[in-house]
Amino acid sequence: MGDCIFCDIVMGRIPSIRVYEDENFIALMDINPLTPGHLLIVSREHYATTLDAPDELLAKALPLAKKLAEAAMLGVGAPAFNIFVNSGPESGQVVPHWHLHVVPRKSPKELPLHGGAPADLTKLPFTAAAIRENL
Ligand code: 5GP
Ligand code: ZN
Repeated sequence: MGDCIFCDIVMGRIPSIRVYEDENFIALMDINPLTPGHLLIVSREHYATTLDAPDELLAKALPLAKKLAEAAMLGVGAPAFNIFVNSGPESGQVVPHWHLHVVPRKSPKELPLHGGAPADLTKLPFTAAAIRENL
């Protein structure tokens, strides 16, 4: 894939600080960490989003995230962590090459992840129905 920064990192054309690699993934330190120890698990193959990545690959990602999260927690002395995958520019994905964030956490105040307003309970069943129709 041309002009992909993570393909360049996977190929070693751009330097990175790696903590792990196997035949499917590399894991590296995020250059702009949300918290100390923020890691990215990056697929070796180029897939733009989670919807493009094969299920067999994704099935290997979560056990790896668990292993790396535990190591990151111990490494930086954090008692908790977040894992997430941005998928699509509207989600905030800026690098269109599949990667999973592992973010060690020491306090819920570090990152504001709970900005939601209470659901409108007259609309919630219809939103749920619209989702079910597309399964
Ligand atoms: P996204 O929003 O696409 O899910 O997140 C991309 C992440 O990649 C960001 O957290 C950003 O800091 C990180 N990042 C972008 N460019 C580089 C880079 O060249 N090297 C490393 N190590 N991380 C990068
Ligand atoms: Zn790529």
